[in-house]
Amino acid sequence: MKNLLAVCREAEKTHVAIGHFNVSDLTALKGVVDAAQELKVPVIIGASEGERKFLGDRQLAALVRSFRDDTGLPIFLNADHTHSLEAAVAAAKAGFDAIVFDLSALPFEENIRQTKEAIGVLKKISPDILVEGEIGDIGTGSQIHDTIPDLSADLTSPEQAKKFVDETGVDILAPAVGNMHGMSASMVSGNAKKRLDLKRISEIKTATGSLITLHGASGTNDDDLRKAIAAGINIIHINTELRVAWRQSLDRSLAEHQNEVVPYKILPPVVDAIRRVALSRLKLFNNL
Ligand SMILES: [Zn+2]
Repeated sequence: MKNLLAVCREAEKTHVAIGHFNVSDLTALKGVVDAAQELKVPVIIGASEGERKFLGDRQLAALVRSFRDDTGLPIFLNADHTHSLEAAVAAAKAGFDAIVFDLSALPFEENIRQTKEAIGVLKKISPDILVEGEIGDIGTGSQIHDTIPDLSADLTSPEQAKKFVDETGVDILAPAVGNMHGMSASMVSGNAKKRLDLKRISEIKTATGSLITLHGASGTNDDDLRKAIAAGINIIHINTELRVAWRQSLDRSLAEHQNEVVPYKILPPVVDAIRRVALSRLKLFNNL
């Protein structure tokens, strides 16, 4: 099986992006794996610190490994938005393929210093592990927001991106390019879409030559996503759309099975709702 770096470089060459989907439970994980299997494309399973605390680092790693073995698909595991070296080390030891070491809330120079230090520690534990660093503000919380924060003051500049990549040695960069974690109610209903700063993506790619991730892509205009991939985005994160599908389908299934107590009779529609969202995004990202 190719490692994540090889799969990322191949995606870069063929102008497609790898889908990254966050999961909090086995229901969502099954839905995402089903979608990847249907299309026979690589996929990255993500879990933030909160998601990992609920699932367990080692438990999730074992589940993902078992799906990888059973399907033969390149299914990778990423420790999303990890804010401490301690949590990053735990994920590396559990066998994660990648870590988003997110110190974007710190001053720029401090972010560089600590990210560089973390890479040294993590690569000693697992030489193949990919470390992603983040600069700029893309908001927090993959949830439904009452108001959309104005993040335009802290978009990533190409100069800043180049300095960060050169000085830290990160494998992957997560810039702020008009993307944002979470969705507004109008995005959930489909009445509003996020728009991306495509020119900025292209300038950051040219300046750094690095692999680039788009976080917070739920609710983004489809055409912007296609153009973002053409401009150099290699990995695209979807979380809130899956969470919305999970909640809505679970509500529906519970309402339809008022007296049912058997989880495996209530949950299949939830797996299917997750599968459909992941399938639609994977088709778009892989140009299928
Ligand atoms: Zn993110």
